[in-house]
Amino acid sequence: MKENFKILVMGGDNRYVEVIKKLASSNISVFLTGFNQLSFEDSHVNHCEIEEIDFSKMDAILLPVAGTDLEGNIEAVYTDKTVKLSEEMLKKTPQHCVIYTGIANDYLQNIANTTNRKLVRLFTRDDIAIYNSIPTSEATLQLAIEETDVTIHGSNVIILGFGRVGLTIARNFASLGANVTVSARKPEHFARISEMGLKSIPTDNLNKIISQMDICINTIPYQIIDSEVIDKMKSSSLIIDLASKPGGTDFEYASQQGIKAIHALGLPGKTAPKTAGEIIGTVLLEILENNE
Ligand code: NAP
Repeated sequence: MKENFKILVMGGDNRYVEVIKKLASSNISVFLTGFNQLSFEDSHVNHCEIEEIDFSKMDAILLPVAGTDLEGNIEAVYTDKTVKLSEEMLKKTPQHCVIYTGIANDYLQNIANTTNRKLVRLFTRDDIAIYNSIPTSEATLQLAIEETDVTIHGSNVIILGFGRVGLTIARNFASLGANVTVSARKPEHFARISEMGLKSIPTDNLNKIISQMDICINTIPYQIIDSEVIDKMKSSSLIIDLASKPGGTDFEYASQQGIKAIHALGLPGKTAPKTAGEIIGTVLLEILENNE
């Protein structure tokens, strides 16, 4: 990272308070737009109105986890003003300026392409996804405790998907004494699930065992819990769907059948914003230091 590195943070939520503190404590000059309702004591932090920003001085731009909407608008919870990123703004940045975002839609990808600026999606990185699986799993556990009238210990829990989130959730629920079954589709995943002492089932065969389950936690971002699966579920069972929008559950059908299905999104930011911010800040600093 070059000396006197300058980063512009455009909007963000409560997670970004930690990110800003982390960046500033590493002697990075942090310019904020969309945070005028907050004050920071660190002298490395400067508030600015969007029209005052000198984009030509910025080495990097950090966008919120959600990036922009399809018009370039940015979610900024600490201001009443509109924060927007345009192609014209990016054109003014130096060629080496990198745009960091949680996720990116077509708008963001297009303006990065047309201006030839590097776009880094932080939330597709394994390290962030794995660290984030910790608060996600804790919040899922909290929901499961609150939404059922039995203990997790002894409950039959199925976890759909054995990716970064599924694995952490499987381990945490098992450690509390739940009877955990994990659905997967790869031989190496079945081997790992077995090594962890858990039961497994091919995701395609979900129908065969779903009637025995008290809690069904979905991490697969495709519709897996469809009407056929829901028809076989006990009416007392609980679905917690963690998969990003639109989720993996036919929510309308579940509701019609009287099965409680919760689409629980953005859990790290809701239940552990400080930790979630530290995760983003720590990984971002590593990336900046390694000039990735
Ligand atoms: P991941 O590592 O990519 O895992 C996804 C899992 O889904 C993998 O086991 C994958 O199986 C499986 N899968 C994908 N498509 C499938 C299909 N068509 N049929 C069967 N299995 C399929 O993702 P992750 O990081 O665990 O995240 C999972 C989801 O949770 C994502 O939608 C993510 O955005 C979301 N998320 C939500 C929260 C929250 O707060 N709600 C927090 C973090 C993440 P293979 O490995 O065999 O491909």
